[in-house]
Amino acid sequence: MKLTKLQRTQLKQMFNGRCTYCGELLSEKWHADHLQAIRRNGDGTCENPEHDCIENLVPACTACNHNKRSMSLEAWRDLLAHYRDVQVIRDCAQVRHLMRFGLIEFVKKPVVFYFETIRGTSV
Ligand SMILES: [Zn+2]
Repeated sequence: MKLTKLQRTQLKQMFNGRCTYCGELLSEKWHADHLQAIRRNGDGTCENPEHDCIENLVPACTACNHNKRSMSLEAWRDLLAHYRDVQVIRDCAQVRHLMRFGLIEFVKKPVVFYFETIRGTSV
């Protein structure tokens, strides 16, 4: 759905100008992300138009929006944990070198989205 300039301004301020997911301050380039993903068809229509509404939009940095794609929050949470627990160590020799020298370590804690850290806030 197309947002007005006022709606975009209001949406950006939902979490004081921060990304809903990672908490980074949003730059001038940010996305209105569908919290519950929509799946677009090739002709511009979407498979679940009920999710294409302003109540389902949250502000997101471009990196989070691109990485989340059309995943559910729980699927994306699992993927982020997979990056940490498996993929980065398996696929990146530089990370394995740094780990052998004790120069980096991963924090084994649950993946928590920024909006989940704000007391009394839900999206
Ligand atoms: Zn982000």
